Amino acid sequence: MIVVMRSDATENDITRVSERIKELGFKPHLSRGIERTVIGAIGREFPELQGMLEVLHGVEDVFPILKPYKLASRDFQPANTAITVGEVTLGSGQLVVIAGPCAVETEQQVLETARAVKAAGASILRGGAYKPSTSPYHFRGLGKEALEFLAQARAETGLPFITEVLAPGDVDLISRYTDILQVGARNMQNFVLLEEVGRTRIPVMLKRGMSATIEEWLLSAEYILSQGNREVMLCERGIRTFEKYTRNTMDVSAIPIIKKLSHLPVIADPSHGTGKWYLVTPMALAAVAAGADGLMIEVHPRPDHALKDGAQSLTFDNFEQLMSQVTDVAASVGRRLVTRPVAKLASQIA
Ligand code: PEP
Ligand code: MN
Repeated sequence: MIVVMRSDATENDITRVSERIKELGFKPHLSRGIERTVIGAIGREFPELQGMLEVLHGVEDVFPILKPYKLASRDFQPANTAITVGEVTLGSGQLVVIAGPCAVETEQQVLETARAVKAAGASILRGGAYKPSTSPYHFRGLGKEALEFLAQARAETGLPFITEVLAPGDVDLISRYTDILQVGARNMQNFVLLEEVGRTRIPVMLKRGMSATIEEWLLSAEYILSQGNREVMLCERGIRTFEKYTRNTMDVSAIPIIKKLSHLPVIADPSHGTGKWYLVTPMALAAVAAGADGLMIEVHPRPDHALKDGAQSLTFDNFEQLMSQVTDVAASVGRRLVTRPVAKLASQIA
C-alpha cells in the first residue's frame, strides 16, 4: 500500500503514520520527495489497511500497489534512485562508463587496461574474478588473486571496481574488496544469492537473465531491496532469441521500459548484448539515446589473446573511439558523460 502525505504534513504526522504501519504488522518505507513524502507499507495482502491509514492526520491519499514488485516500482518511489560510487553517481542524470576485461588474467593486464580506460574517460573498472562458464573445462577466473589485482589497480588509478559474485558463500570475501557486486545473468533467479547480497550495504548490479521477462527481472531486484539494500542497479545485457547472428539480442526497449516502471538506474552492456566487437559501439550509442544511466564495456589489451569474450572485447583504440562517439550522442540528448577529474600535471599548477 502507498500512503501519500499532504504537502503540509508535519514530521509528527509522518512518524505517527509510520508507527501505525508497524503496529499493524507492516514495514514502513519512507521516500521523501521535494514536494511530498510517500510511505510504503510492505507486507501481506490486507484490504482494510487502506481505510485504516486514510483516516490518519496528514494523509492525502492511500492506494494499493498493483504491480507484483513493490520496492522496485516507480509508484512506490517516484524519484530516481541515485547511487554514488567513488566520485560518480549512477541514476542522477550523469552518464557513467564502466570498462575493463571480461576476466582478470594477470596483474599487468588489469593495470594496463585500468590505465587505458581511465585515460579514455571511464570512471569504474570491471573485471571478473569468479567467472560463470558454460563448460567446466573453460577458464573460470583467478578467484581471490584477481581481487587483489583489481584492488591494486584501484589503488594506482583511483578507479572503483565492479566484480561478479557467483555463490552466496563468496559474498563476504568479495564484499571486502569490491565497490559494486555484480550478479550475473545466470544467477538472476538465484534467490538465496539475491538475499545474501541484499544483506550487504554495497551497491549491486543485477544483470538481466538471458530468458527473463522485465517483470521477472524486477522481482529479482525486489529480493535484494527487501533485505534492506536500496542500492540496486539493473543491467540489460541482451536476451536469447531465435537470431543466431548475434550472441544475444540487445533489448534496447528494456531501457525506457525500466525507467518507466522503476526508479532504479539502468546500465547497458552491449558487449554481451551483441557478442561482436564491431556491434558494441552502435548499440552503446543506441542505449545512451534510449536513456541508459551507464554503459558497461569489455576492453582488453589484446582481444585476440583474451581468455574470455575476446570476440566482443574492444581494443584500447576502439574504446577511445567509442567514448568520443558516446560523448557526442550524450550531448545531443541532453546528457553529460562524467569522467573522473584528471589530476593536473605539475606544470599546469600555477
Ligand atoms: C560478464 O559480465 O562478464 C558476464 C558473465 O555477463 P552475463 O552474466 O551478462 O553473461
Ligand atoms: Mn564477459
